[in-house]
Amino acid sequence: MKIDQVSDSVYVVAGTNVNWALVSDGSGVTVVDAGYPSDAGDVLDSVRQIGHELTDIAAVLLTHAHLDHIGAIPSLVERVGMPVYTGAEEVRHAKREYLQQISAAHMLGLLGNQRGRRWVAQTLWAIKGHLGDSVPSATAADDSILSSLPGGFVAVPTPGHTDGHTAYLMPSEAVLFTGDALVTGHPLVRHTGPQLLPKVFNHDEARTLDSAHLLATQPARIIVPGHGLPTHRDPATPMEIFQQP
Ligand SMILES: [Zn+2]
Repeated sequence: MKIDQVSDSVYVVAGTNVNWALVSDGSGVTVVDAGYPSDAGDVLDSVRQIGHELTDIAAVLLTHAHLDHIGAIPSLVERVGMPVYTGAEEVRHAKREYLQQISAAHMLGLLGNQRGRRWVAQTLWAIKGHLGDSVPSATAADDSILSSLPGGFVAVPTPGHTDGHTAYLMPSEAVLFTGDALVTGHPLVRHTGPQLLPKVFNHDEARTLDSAHLLATQPARIIVPGHGLPTHRDPATPMEIFQQP
């Protein structure tokens, strides 16, 4: 893993082809997303490496409940017992009342080129034994809960990648946690910079694009995506969003 401090309070951690973030404001830590199951140990270590105990974690804030974002949550719930907040609709996804995730058939379809083969191999390893993981304790966070967490957040509902996907704006430092609604890179794609994930990952492509445009209008100077590098930007300059043909 690689830890990158992007503002006074925000640390972005690059794990296995996915990012999570730690927001430390002195009162405690908010963990934004939680890596693949194979990243669980690194998620715990990253909290310690920025100078905190696991018991400082006030909450996990989840953009959406895909396996590469919930990986360390079972360990954290067991050790810390903190709440896990996500969007109201995404709570049902986190509890696996339904599943909106890339299918096995679509993964097979990625094996036709080297980037795809490598990503599939890494992914199968990263989720091994955890295909059925869920987050039974997930609950919806209202505005007052979000604003009182370490960092202080405002929810930006961004349906499309999943029906309940939610991005989070941290107004005090103008940081936008975009999850998979807007990313800046992915191992399957050569292009870097603001973009949608490949269509195969998005439950509803049209809504994903609408949500990405909504994110582009947020008053954020730092984009922290679920995949790709954190990116500084001038909120006054229009953001170009790349979409694969
Ligand atoms: Zn996702």
